[in-house]
Order: sequence, then C-alpha cells, then structure tokens
Amino acid sequence: MEIALEASIRELEQKLRHSAEEHPHLLALTPAWWQQRFLDWANEDPDFRVKLLRFVDVLPTLRTASSVADHVRQYFRGSGPEIVQTASDIAAQPVFRPILSRVIRQGVFAMARRFIVGASPAEALPALRELAQQGIGYTVDLLGEATLSDAEADAYLARYFTLLETLAAACETVASHGERWQGVPPINLSVKLSTLCPHFEPAAPEHVSAVIRNRLRPLLRLARQQGAFINFDMEQYRYRHLVQQTFSDLVLEPEFVDFSDIGIVVQAYLRDAEEDLARLHALAKRRGAPFTIRLVKGAYWDEERIVASQNSWPVPLFEEKADTDSCFERCTDALLAAWPHLRPAFGTHNPRSVAQAIVKARARGLRDSVLEFQVLCGMVEGLRTAVAAEGLRTRVYVPIGEIIPGMAYLVRRLLENTSNQAWFHAGLSEAAVQRLRPKVEKPLEREARVFRNASPARFFAPGFRERMLSALTKVRGSFGASYPLLRGERRVSGRPLAQVRYPAEPETVFGQVAQGSPADVDSAVALARGAFPAWRDRPADERAGILRRAAEMMEERRFELAAVMVYESAKPWHEADADVVEAMDYLQYYAAEVERYAGPRILGDQLGERNEYFYQGRGVAAVVAPWNFPLAIVTGMSAAALAAGNAAILKPASQSPIIAYHLVELLHEAGVPPEIVQYLPGRGDEVGQTLVEHPGIDLIAFTGSNAVGLTLLTAAAKVRPGQRNVKRVIAELGGKNAIIIDDDADLDEAIAGTVTSAFGYAGQKCSACSRLVIVGLAYNQAMERLRHAVESLIVGPPHDPATFVPPVISGSARDKIREYIESGRRSSRLLVEGHIPPGSGYYVRPTVFTDVPLDAHIACEEIFGPVLAVFHAASFEEALRIATRSPFALTGGVFSRNPRHIDLARRQFRVGNLYINRKTTGAIVGRQPFGGLAMSGVGEKAGGPDYLRQFMEPRVVTENTMRRGFAPEDGA
Ligand code: NAP
Repeated sequence: MEIALEASIRELEQKLRHSAEEHPHLLALTPAWWQQRFLDWANEDPDFRVKLLRFVDVLPTLRTASSVADHVRQYFRGSGPEIVQTASDIAAQPVFRPILSRVIRQGVFAMARRFIVGASPAEALPALRELAQQGIGYTVDLLGEATLSDAEADAYLARYFTLLETLAAACETVASHGERWQGVPPINLSVKLSTLCPHFEPAAPEHVSAVIRNRLRPLLRLARQQGAFINFDMEQYRYRHLVQQTFSDLVLEPEFVDFSDIGIVVQAYLRDAEEDLARLHALAKRRGAPFTIRLVKGAYWDEERIVASQNSWPVPLFEEKADTDSCFERCTDALLAAWPHLRPAFGTHNPRSVAQAIVKARARGLRDSVLEFQVLCGMVEGLRTAVAAEGLRTRVYVPIGEIIPGMAYLVRRLLENTSNQAWFHAGLSEAAVQRLRPKVEKPLEREARVFRNASPARFFAPGFRERMLSALTKVRGSFGASYPLLRGERRVSGRPLAQVRYPAEPETVFGQVAQGSPADVDSAVALARGAFPAWRDRPADERAGILRRAAEMMEERRFELAAVMVYESAKPWHEADADVVEAMDYLQYYAAEVERYAGPRILGDQLGERNEYFYQGRGVAAVVAPWNFPLAIVTGMSAAALAAGNAAILKPASQSPIIAYHLVELLHEAGVPPEIVQYLPGRGDEVGQTLVEHPGIDLIAFTGSNAVGLTLLTAAAKVRPGQRNVKRVIAELGGKNAIIIDDDADLDEAIAGTVTSAFGYAGQKCSACSRLVIVGLAYNQAMERLRHAVESLIVGPPHDPATFVPPVISGSARDKIREYIESGRRSSRLLVEGHIPPGSGYYVRPTVFTDVPLDAHIACEEIFGPVLAVFHAASFEEALRIATRSPFALTGGVFSRNPRHIDLARRQFRVGNLYINRKTTGAIVGRQPFGGLAMSGVGEKAGGPDYLRQFMEPRVVTENTMRRGFAPEDGA
C-alpha cells in the first residue's frame, strides 16, 4: 500500500513538474527578461545579492534624484555586473541623474509589481479579475508599516474594512466560479495580528488577545455578513503562541463559535509543527465547528536563525530542507486525518509536496473539492496552472500595499528567488540547496569553549511565563523580610533598618535592610585584608571555577532573582530577566578572562636569565554600585574583582540593597570565602564615603552619577595615614545620549529603536537615548509616528508583563524628572505626553519635546527619566554636530542606509558605544563591551577584553639562572 502510494506520488509529481517547467520563453531586453537577469546575477554573486536587496530596500525612501544617484554610486561602485557598474558611473554625472533615477525606480517598481499587485484594493481588482477568469482564487494580504501605535493599528483595521468592502462590492467579477468553488466563500483575506496591536508582547498573551479581539470582532461580523473568509497569518516563531492563543480565544467566543470561514497557518519548518496541528485539531473538536489550516513551510527561515543565534536560543526550525519537507508530509497526514474538523489548504511551491497531498487525500477517500492549494503571487505560475489543470482548487496569496511599507515583504520574496536556501524551489537536489546556502559565520560556536552568553528567557515558549509568575508570587510572600549585613562569617542584624518600598505601590514595604556604620567599614576592611593573600594566591582556575558555579546557581534561581528586581527596582519582566542574564555573563566572562591571564609569560630569550611577567590581585576592592542595573553591575564589578584575586566589599545603592544581598549569599554558597566578599549596605555619603576613603582600600570600582563619581575620584587621590597603596579608581559615569535618524532611515526600525532606547525602563539607563536628531525630510513623518507611538506606550506596574514603562525608582526621582519636564515646557514645545495609571506609584508620563534650544537644560543634562528632546537637522553632518555636542560620550545611535553617512558616524560620532541601525541600550557582555569616553567615565569597558586588567597589577620576577658559567638551555 505504502509502495503503491509512493509510486503514485512520484508519478503525479513528475507530471506537475513537467507542466510547471513549460515556462514561456522571455524575450530578451523586456522588463521581465531584465528582472530575471538581475535575479540570476544575484544568485551567482552573494555580494551583489546583499547589495541589491539593500538597495531595493532603501530605494523607495529616497526622495530626490541626486539621492538615488548617490546611493547607486555607494552601493554598486566597483562591484556587481557590468551594467550595474556602468549605471554607477553614470550616477557620477549630475546631468544624467534624473533620468537614471527614473529608470531605476521604474525597474524596481516593475519588479515589485510581480509580487505586489497594487497599492490599494481598488488597484488590485484587475489582477483579481484576471485570476477569477482563469478559475483561480485569491487571498489578499495588506502590506504595511510595522504597527507602532494604537493610531496605526486603527488605521490598519480601517484598511481591512475598506478591503473587505471593496471586494464585496466587486464580488461578482473577482470571485471564481465553477464546481470546485461551490460553497467556498468568494472573498478571502489574510490578516497579520501584529498589525492590530502595537505592543505585541509574547509575555502578555492575555493583553494582546484582548486588544486584538476588540479590534477584530467588528471585522469578523462584517466578514460573516459579506460571506468572506478570514485567515490568521503566522509570523515569527516568538509570536506563534500569541497568534494561536488569540485565534483560540476568538473562535471560542459564543458569537463566533460556529463561524467556520476562518483559518490559521501551521509552519512545517518548525520542529513542533505537529504539536501545533494536534492542538488546533483539539480546538476544532472542542468548539464543534471546523476551521481551515493553511499548511506552509515558513517564510522567516533566515530571520529565525539569526534571532536564535543572537540570543543563544535553540533554533526552532529544521535547518535542513529535507527535514522540513518530510515534516510537511507528516503534517499533511495529520491534517487529512483531522478532516472534517480541520479543512486543509496547502501553501507550497514544491511539486512533490503538492503531489503527496493530492495522492494521500484521494487514498483516504477525500473528495478533491475538500482540498485547496495556495501559492504566492508572482511565483511558480507554471505549477499553479498545472495544479488547477489537475482539477484542484488553487488560490494565490496576493499582497496589496504601497511599495515602501511593502519592502520587507518584497525583499523576502526576492530572497526566495535568489534563494540562499531555496525553500520553495522545486526540483533542486539537497546538494544544490546546500551549495546555495550562505556560509553563516558562527562566532558564538567558535568561542563556545571559552565563553558563551547566557540566553534571555523565552517568555514566548511554554513554561517560562509560568515560572516567572510563580517566582513573583513567591517573592511577594517574602515582603517585609529583614536583611542583615554579611560581614565575614557573621550576619550582623543589630543595626538601624532602612525600608525598601515597591515603586509601583510605595505604601508596600518590600524589605528592611540593616544599615552599616563607619565602624562596620573598619571591621569589614580588616577581615578582607586578612583573607586577601590566601585568595590572591589561589590558582586562577579555582577562582574561575567558583565564579562559574555561581553563574550556574544564578541560572537555577534566575526567575526569583528577576522577581526581586521587579519589586525592588521596578524592572519590567524583560528588563529584570536581562539583568540576570548580564550578571551570569559577567561571572562566566571574567572567569574565562582570568584564565587567559593565568600563568607567567616568559619575556626575552637570553641564556642565563629567566624573566617572568605575571598578574596578581591588587588588594581590597570597594564596589560601589548604582540601582539601575541592580544585579548586573554589582555582579560585574564584584566578579571582576574576585576573579582577579581581590577581596571585595559591596556597597549597593540604597534603592536596591536586597538583590545585592542575594548575590553575596549566592557567592558564599558557590565557594567564595565570606571574608573575601562582604555585604555592607548603608548610606552613600556615610558608609560609601568611609569605605572609599579607607586607607585599607586599594581599588575602587564605582558606577553611578558624575557628581558622586567625581567626588570620589578626588577623595581617592588623598593619601591617608596608614595607607599603603595609591588607589586605583574605575568609574563608569552618566550619559546624555543621542540617536540620529537619517533621511533614508527605515522608520519602522528607527522609531521602534528610539522608543525602546528612550522609554525602556522609564529612561533610567545610562545608555538611554535622551536626544533625538532627525535629518531633513524624514522629520515630519518620523515625528508623527513617534507621537503616536509614545501615546500608546503602556505605563504600569512592572509585575504586569504587559507593562513597557514602569514607575521610576523613587518619589524624589519622580519629582526631579517632573522639574525637568516643567523646564522643558518653558524652553521648548511639548510634542506628546503619554498616559499614566492612577494610584500612588512613582509614575512619570513619557514626554517628548521639540524645538529644543541646544543649550536648554533638557538638551544638556542627564535627566534619567522618560523625557526625550528632539532636534531637526538640515544635513547628516549637522546632525552629527548636534549629537556630539555634549561633554558626555557614552552611547550613540544612527539609523541610516547611506554607507557614506554610516562611515562618517563611525569616524566622528565619538562615543564609547556607537550603535548603527539598532537601539542604543542592551549591550551584551563579550560582544558589546560597554563604557563611555570623556565625562562618561574613566576605565576600560565592562565585559570587554581589557576590563579585568584594571583589577590586577603586573609583577616581574627575574632570576639569574647561570651558575658558575653554566645555564640551562631553556632558561628554566
Ligand atoms: P549615584 O547616586 O551616583 O550612586 C551610585 C552609588 O554611589 C550608590 O551606591 C550610592 O549610594 C553611592 N554614593 C553616593 N554618594 C556617595 C559618596 N559620597 N561616596 C561614596 N559612594 C557614594 O548613582 P545612581 O543614582 O545610583 O545611578 C544612576 C547614575 O549611574 C546615572 O548617572 C547613570 O548614568 C549612572 N550609570 C552609569 C553606568 C555606566 O556604565 N556608565 C551604568 C549605570 C548607571 P546611595 O545609593 O546609598 O546614595
């Protein structure tokens, strides 16, 4: 039976393949011929492919002929096929620019038209009619910008309504007729749920589902009334559960529980595609009415692999094409077996995949009319016709939209055509596919033996959310607890207690912390000094081993530690999780670093002498930390001190002492002797100051404000009685960071990146963006989108996973930020103020000012809150001048697709960490070592290859190995 089935599949596959290959011959030099040539070139030359895709991506945003010419020169000068280089040469001549610009635009737009049928529903009607005349159906997808605000989500919804109404009005002419279409809704829409919710947050599925269902219900009512089918498209893996949950919630609502003209996608390239199908099958049975499954292979292959690699997550999809194909076939079996609860639609461009579905369905006795096949517009037209000729229902996925917002879609389609992995290409052998695949560099894997970044929690995957919720409940259960000093072996409690309150509910005491005194500083330093030599002299790999154990323990407790920061420092879920991840990274990274430094280096090769150069710990380190990365920074500074062989006394910030207590306990459990790491909370201007001034302190690792940092540098320079060392000070200070949005920037990315950089954790990051400079003609559109995006930010308590902007750390911080906002009102123009929830939490409205004078307070001073000052620059060069007009030089950002501007920024935007085409926050240990220049700090970059050196001092031992004229050959 199996063998017979396989033979029939092959026979049908051959038939389809044969018919599909009967392409009409393209006439040389026609636009279609040119398009094909370009795609062929791109296929042959990976470098040209990247340039072509990037150029196509930026072209629609170029507003003038000279800008088009400029980009052509920059992208293609000296590379690519000859004709492209000639165009690049022509672009150098101003007189030819208008015509060149026109020709290129027309070419690219014509190429886009192959995949995108029109800018509006009305424009698409002729193409739909043509399909109807061929007996082929359609499903319309609306392309658009990323949804960054509620206004944009509403506008998207309105477009879906217009689409539905337009198609309904033209229903007679755009619907396919004939037997195979009987009983099939004549109108068919594909909806992307991310378009209907600006805060598409996987950790908050209830919020997302509620927001989307509110928007979708009226659309579904209209669909029902007009006899239309609605399909939920699937997007990236991290959104899969969001889409499935929203779908499930919606189809179980009493109003829609019997609505069958609805469907959802399953992506067979996912390793858990079969589980998805099983879940959806159960859902259909539970509701008692069928719905459709569109089984596809998946369109985000490249992106999924990159995202997984960047986050050290397991790759969620099959990396071999053959595995996806066989999963598609197993899913086909499951889908057909689930009929009539699930109605099958197969989205594939592979004749084998089509053939096996047809043959298996027929073998099961299913009528052909039960099946549907779908292909993307502009692709495999031969196959489409062949499947239709076989008597089966075929449908084309038809995108509609303006070219600019459609670019991401277009680039994906071009990628498939010039394919680096040719997912959909029929007839390619696996060996051929392997050849076409890009050689993906895997730096993480290369370095895995030494250091590998910890991975952020996958709140989109089962189990993670639940663990975080239960950690939050557990930590809430400990509210009100007291925390002693950890001084050597002793837990010292008999001290005044300071209360730490939950910033979202200031009336709630989170914990009470014993406050050290100057006398405690003396005893802590004495204990540390006594224990230091033994720790210093322990082999580096033993110290490293202890830190690695601490990292593992942190991984086990990661959700509880994150939950502590949610309540103590008002860190929203992702921020709290990222703090733990960074802390684990520091422990692992500095463990690896100290092993790199271990062992003496032998200098010179003279006979008769041996020169050993080696490092050792400096002594006792005072670690004085801020509250805004309450675990990461204190862990980073302490781990470096300990790895290098120093003793460390931790003075956490008064706002975040409890998480530091947990850290020190954990380090003790991991094996750091209690005298070597001690916990000494207390007031900065008392305990902190006494500690840094203490003659027994050799090294100060400080991160915090400029005001305190500079005082501390002065204090450290003074030599006190009994002091034996010149103090080494490492001080990471504040910032006043700027992002530039160039006039060719991708605004989807630029606005999202700016909003995250400026308002994530309420702007309380040293790396936060507090100045935005927009270049030229991008200004109006960027400001409009920014305004709406800020209005839509969700400000709320950090324990709620839907929250994006939490309250600020304290009442005094709130009052200070409000003063800045008042000063902004006086000096500048208020663009927008976000919403805040009622209640006593320390909330500050996310606020944006424009028309800001360059010397206004809000333009120059570190505010450390959710306040953004916007400037308009006529040119990129002017934008750079504005951005670098600050004594601070910590982070900076540039959103641009102009290679010359990017290069200029590389050279002239002199900040410690410059980010191009991404947010300015979230530096990753080992990959983006972090630290500022100028008034933003003194010291090497944290999480970088030079950092640990500062905590060590080098020694040289020279031995004369010659005795009576004889010396060993190797100098030993
Ligand atoms: P902060 O007020 O300067 O406090 C930092 C630490 O110094 C706290 O532990 C504080 O203790 C202590 N301290 C205060 N006065 C002291 C004194 N006279 N002698 C010794 N220690 C003293 O800074 P923050 O408000 O906690 O943190 C926010 C600042 O840190 C911002 O300016 C931000 O830009 C900067 N920051 C920089 C980086 C970076 O990597 N460059 C990273 C994070 C934060 P108390 O809390 O008890 O006063």
